[in-house]
Amino acid sequence: MLLDAPGAPLRAADLEPPAVGSTQVRIRVRACGVCRTDLHLVDGELPEPMLPVIPGHEVIGAVEERGREVTALEVGERVGVPWLGFTCGACDACLRKQENLCPNAKFTGYTLHGGYAGELVAEARYCFRIPDVFEDSEAAPLMCAGLIGYRALSIADAEQRGERVGLYGFGAAAHILAQLLVHQGRDVFAFVRPGDAAAKAFARSLGARWAGDATETPPVALDSAILFAPVGALVPQALAAVRPGGRVVCGGIHMSDIPSFPYRLLWQERQLVSVANLTRKDGDDFLPLAAKTRIRTAVTTLPLSEANQALTRLRNGEVQGALVLQGLHL
Ligand SMILES: [Zn+2]
Ligand SMILES: [Zn+2]
Repeated sequence: MLLDAPGAPLRAADLEPPAVGSTQVRIRVRACGVCRTDLHLVDGELPEPMLPVIPGHEVIGAVEERGREVTALEVGERVGVPWLGFTCGACDACLRKQENLCPNAKFTGYTLHGGYAGELVAEARYCFRIPDVFEDSEAAPLMCAGLIGYRALSIADAEQRGERVGLYGFGAAAHILAQLLVHQGRDVFAFVRPGDAAAKAFARSLGARWAGDATETPPVALDSAILFAPVGALVPQALAAVRPGGRVVCGGIHMSDIPSFPYRLLWQERQLVSVANLTRKDGDDFLPLAAKTRIRTAVTTLPLSEANQALTRLRNGEVQGALVLQGLHL
């Protein structure tokens, strides 16, 4: 499914299969998750996409062909392809081990073709092995929702592990991260769209200690808060909910403007930071942990041909857990 221009619906297209470069693999797609970033792409909220582009960066598939320099992956092996699709390895950011900030990075389903397709070509270095405990559709949301949640938590915990963690926006990322936090014995506070009783019940069913409207004040001050909802107005709310010295982490690639707020919300060493993309180390750390923790992703599958309907459902907040497209080869 191809995006010709922001604002246009995706259209089915038969493209010439691209050649496989020496460091690349051709992957037969078995499942591809639908991420909020795909909505931002379709809505023109991300600068300079490759156009036309095949969206999709939560790809699970099998290696079908490999370039001559690829030795780490076998033909037939199951892999996942995440958002980060290429980095240069030579810039200051890459040399600092912050490849997620590489200015020459390329991103799957944005500046590279993604997984809303029968197959894709990916750099072998950026493919992850997928633990056997996960079905294809269950594994797909781990590739972005899972990884970005994990990275956001790492940043929230960077100075000190928080025991009381707020999650704003209880979608695909939060429902995965909540399971990890509960498994680690931490208290999860879930903040949902005002009035969304189903989302509150969903959060409680996954072990959240408290679930309330995003506008509510939690019953205790939080150690950290992670914003997955792309709503800038939640930033002052989250700062007000964390204790002195607490951290607020913005997890989305795009967010509406943050309104001005009184300095006292930031005062007392509260911190406000963002998290961008992922590193390969995040995947190497998170995927085994997700398997060990027995994270269960709640997925609804739709045929690839219904990608536009999937995006509409996500936009309308009708999704509990994650949406996954499955299609051409099943
Ligand atoms: Zn670089
Ligand atoms: Zn994503």
